[in-house]
Amino acid sequence: MISISHPQWDPPLTLNNRLGAMYTSKSQKSRVLTELWVEGNMYCPVCGNCSVSKYPANTPVADFFCPSCKADFELKSKNVKSSYQPRVIVDGSWNTMLARLRSASNPHLLFMSRQDAHIQNFIFIPNFFFSPSVIAPRTPLSAKARRAGWQGCNILYGAIPAIGRIPLIAQGIPVPRHVVDKAYKQSCALSIDRLAARGWLLDVMKCVENIKKDNFSLKDVYAFIPYLRERHPQNAHIEEKIRQQLQMLRDRGLIQFISRGTYCKSPTH
Ligand SMILES: [Zn+2]
Repeated sequence: MISISHPQWDPPLTLNNRLGAMYTSKSQKSRVLTELWVEGNMYCPVCGNCSVSKYPANTPVADFFCPSCKADFELKSKNVKSSYQPRVIVDGSWNTMLARLRSASNPHLLFMSRQDAHIQNFIFIPNFFFSPSVIAPRTPLSAKARRAGWQGCNILYGAIPAIGRIPLIAQGIPVPRHVVDKAYKQSCALSIDRLAARGWLLDVMKCVENIKKDNFSLKDVYAFIPYLRERHPQNAHIEEKIRQQLQMLRDRGLIQFISRGTYCKSPTH
């Protein structure tokens, strides 16, 4: 039975190539086609509004917004060879990204991977999963370039915890809206406003996800110290920080404490 609050979502899984016929630039064409697809088919995964609206072109804030809850969305797409998951997503200016992270207006990300016109995966990443530790600057453009000195950035997609990568379409199949809604609500357990604290919490969550068993010890998490040190080189008390983050994950219901130094992943994670 379909719940009234979660109508069925049955979008076309192919981009309408005819609409992009007038564009010769491949990147411009894919931009136009993916934007048209989102405009015509996407609902707001935050509040459930039946559509999202497009900002005027070249609006620096975001690409889409929800007219109901005012959530902002950035859209990225990538043409892929198979149903592979990318390690990084190429994004725009590094400085703009840092300014966005520090402000309250950081958009949510919608990421589409497609094989030519066929949509494979469409992933929603809530804005509170973005911290400086999942963004990496690219090399600035050389002095000869038209925009010399301009520096772009990459989103380190693989470093974002799985709980924050919510599939809207998975392997070419639309995910029912009630499943997306539940996944979004679960991911909100990791929502944290203070940017400095956000990186640590998400990085330790990522380590916990990477432990391949449900019950684990502090030692299992300490095995990730080299990974965490690389991300937070300025912190000299990593073990203490890890224990503190595990407490926060427990307080947010993402893990449970069984006994001293022994933990358990919560059933949904
Ligand atoms: Zn909304």
